[in-house]
Amino acid sequence: MAQIQTVRGPIDSAQLGTTLMHEHVFVLDKEISENYPEDWGVEEKRIADAVSRLNELKSRGEEGVDLSRVVIGHSGDTTDLDYLEELISHGSYLGMDRFGIDSILSFEDRVNTVSAMCARGYAERMVLSHDAACYMHHLPERELPALLPRWHYLHIHNDVLPALKQKGVSDEQVQTMLVENPRRIFKRRGAY
Ligand SMILES: [Zn+2]
Repeated sequence: MAQIQTVRGPIDSAQLGTTLMHEHVFVLDKEISENYPEDWGVEEKRIADAVSRLNELKSRGEEGVDLSRVVIGHSGDTTDLDYLEELISHGSYLGMDRFGIDSILSFEDRVNTVSAMCARGYAERMVLSHDAACYMHHLPERELPALLPRWHYLHIHNDVLPALKQKGVSDEQVQTMLVENPRRIFKRRGAY
């Protein structure tokens, strides 16, 4: 078994409980954004760059990179099931990791996408998370609760899981996404 560092000290990967696979506590970039506001540049270019890097990763996968060690983040921002199926056909996991950011994709669409992928037999290939933070320097702290009221660490347990179960996702599939998959991913350590 592999040891995982947690805020409470190292534990064995087999002891991992429910694990949200992609969260932040603080995202601090005030100095960078104040001193280098041009750093981010044009959003379309950033998106195109990301697409090209992901395609690069995909082609590397065909050359032998172990994609079972890769979680493709923000995959839950689409409702395109065929695209998601195509992504995991190369062996990686899907990070359905922006629950609560309803401005990008609605709660209903996010829930429907995960439940549909479960129905297609892919619970073993998805991990769930919020990509939330207690505080983000580049987002307005005061307006955020009004803009994205469900973007917090409890949204999955309070709202998403009940909605998934209503859509036919089983307790076992939830356990797979929240517990078994993170364990399996973190268990694999060391060099190739
Ligand atoms: Zn993030």
